[in-house]
Amino acid sequence: MYDGDIASVLITEQQIGEKVAELAKQVADDYPENGTDLVLVGVLKGAVMFMTDFARALPVPVQLEFMAVSSYGSATSSSGVVRILKDLDRDIAGRDVVIVEDIIDSGLTLSWLLKNLASRNPKSLEVVTLLRKPDAVTVDVPVKYVGFEIPNEFVVGYGLDFAERYRDLPYIGTLDPKVYTS
Ligand code: 5GP
Ligand code: MG
Ligand code: MG
Repeated sequence: MYDGDIASVLITEQQIGEKVAELAKQVADDYPENGTDLVLVGVLKGAVMFMTDFARALPVPVQLEFMAVSSYGSATSSSGVVRILKDLDRDIAGRDVVIVEDIIDSGLTLSWLLKNLASRNPKSLEVVTLLRKPDAVTVDVPVKYVGFEIPNEFVVGYGLDFAERYRDLPYIGTLDPKVYTS
């Protein structure tokens, strides 16, 4: 599949699986069952693979919500100006909420999302991200659960796209530069 487009595999399917289980255990330990289900907010579309695996790995009941946002900017970098394309279906007031992200690069999208969701008065609000790039440390976004710290390279797979392709790869890899330039 996608023959020759992937320059290298950064994180294998097995490594992703192990990390998802590890993150799920950490989160479950922090939210002992208290009668109210945890609300996972997945950010479409990139986080969809992580969201579904993570939800199934969690040994506590969760409810699934999704948001779609678009940040104005180029295809590969964001500006921090965000528009909601699809909002939550339910009220999150008084609920324990965990935002599920695929990757944090500049952190601008997430910073906006945190403010937006915090204004809806959840009981608690945390973030789990599968991947984080080095630039993310320059923006002050509190991210409690991080899967992998990765180098500053453009990656695809496991939900992450380039021009809507490669989301269906089971691993995370880097793209051959010929893909951008052709
Ligand atoms: P931020 O606002 O943190 O700069 O950008 C976050 C969003 O940019 C991610 O949710 C993702 O959609 C996109 N993004 C950032 N880095 C990458 C990358 O390496 N690969 C892909 N496919 N998308 C990325
Ligand atoms: Mg995302
Ligand atoms: Mg994208």
